[in-house]
Amino acid sequence: MSYFDQLGLAEPILRALKSKGYTEPTPIQRQAIPALLEGRDLLGIAQTGTGKTAAFALPSLHRLAANPVARMPAACRMLVLSPTRELAAQIADNMEAYARNLNLSVQCVFGGLPVGKQARKLVGGCDVLVATPGRLLDLIDQRALTLRHVEIFVLDEADQMMDLGFIKPLTRVAAMLPEKRQSLFFSATMPNAIADLGKRFIKNPVRVEVSPQATTAERVEQFSIYINQAEKQALLTIQLRAGLADKSIERALVFTRTKHGADRVVRHLCAAGINAAAIHGNKSQAQRTRALEGFRQGHVPVLIATDIAARGIDVTGVSHVFNFEMPNIAEQYVHRIGRTARAGADGIAISYVAPDEKPYLKGIERLTGVKLMPMGLPEDFAAQAKSLPAPSRAPAGAERAEGDRPQRKFRNPRPEGGQRGPAAPKRDPNVRVHPRGEGRPQGERAGERTGEGQRRRRFGGGGGQRTGSGPAR
Ligand code: AMP
Repeated sequence: MSYFDQLGLAEPILRALKSKGYTEPTPIQRQAIPALLEGRDLLGIAQTGTGKTAAFALPSLHRLAANPVARMPAACRMLVLSPTRELAAQIADNMEAYARNLNLSVQCVFGGLPVGKQARKLVGGCDVLVATPGRLLDLIDQRALTLRHVEIFVLDEADQMMDLGFIKPLTRVAAMLPEKRQSLFFSATMPNAIADLGKRFIKNPVRVEVSPQATTAERVEQFSIYINQAEKQALLTIQLRAGLADKSIERALVFTRTKHGADRVVRHLCAAGINAAAIHGNKSQAQRTRALEGFRQGHVPVLIATDIAARGIDVTGVSHVFNFEMPNIAEQYVHRIGRTARAGADGIAISYVAPDEKPYLKGIERLTGVKLMPMGLPEDFAAQAKSLPAPSRAPAGAERAEGDRPQRKFRNPRPEGGQRGPAAPKRDPNVRVHPRGEGRPQGERAGERTGEGQRRRRFGGGGGQRTGSGPAR
């Protein structure tokens, strides 16, 4: 008898867990499941990789199945809000797997796909709906969905939601939920602003904290290399080439701070014969799905991502995380390295620290209480770097779209009309600039793609107006 049996979950759920190969609950599951089965609200402080999806999914499915109700048109009984499409899709996949032996339907809606098609999926209603906030509100505004029958509400990755400027949509959602419901609120970090947001949703919650705030994944070996920005690409190519050749690297996730930077890294790696793909907000949904699928299946062993696009990515076997650029927000580092060492595996995180990024490193070490181990450059670095091939010109899909900006929290606002302010980052001379808005996925709200558009509107886009760099609302 496994410990899952003792938690009191229904037999069809235990069978689904068995076929997933789970034998023991993770600490957050152990703590959260009994309280959630009792119908309590929950405040969960946990980063991804701790098993929090199952922690909220299993008891919720148990409760829904224990109290069968006829499906109501354009309604759902459980609503899970997630900040990004990838995370939403992942949660829905997991919930489907856990619900496979139950008569419960799971639907998932997010921006980037035609809204009409998603509205049609909801006509007959569903039991569980996983959604990103913008698309959820679109559907509600079109009267394709009502929240009147929500019994269980889950807000996942609350800190990321706030970071993406989803506070207004969340406030609207809060007002539409029925008074009588069970609410679950998860966040990797719990600064005061997030705790305040939580108060709008949860009442007298059980508090579950699986690791102290901002504690980095314990099983990740963390290294730093001091290196000039201009030499980072060569170092990455050399390290990846060696690691993939001797199989010490199984799958690597590389973080850049900008979408443009991600595309540039891909071009360099591909020129050096390393199969790599990028995932960020300028990519269409199809490109993102393809890149992620290639990475999951293993024929693309290197994925380059911006922070927001990578949030929530759950791929087993990510052996290495490279911080090509240091995150300027220390908490982001915790999220990044949380991509490796998931579900108990070991992982390695290597941070490339340019001279002007040293303060970021200090901030990270202060937050996590972990000193990154200094790593030297490869012995014949200069000679190897010289022999690396130069990338060909930017392929069409990788060109810089207007408005591709570093993911800084605050930046000089761009003057009205979309002209760059004086502090705009330098352009890559090899890269052509798209005319306004071209090449962007249309028909979705800015924050739905990755939230990057939303940031632009908040800090650089002129008071929520369309700037040419943002997609149509
Ligand atoms: P999450 O934090 O929900 O993103 O889960 C991280 C990973 O752990 C996912 O790949 C889950 O499938 C996996 N996982 C969740 N619970 C368990 C468990 N009890 N045993 C083994 N793996 C698990």
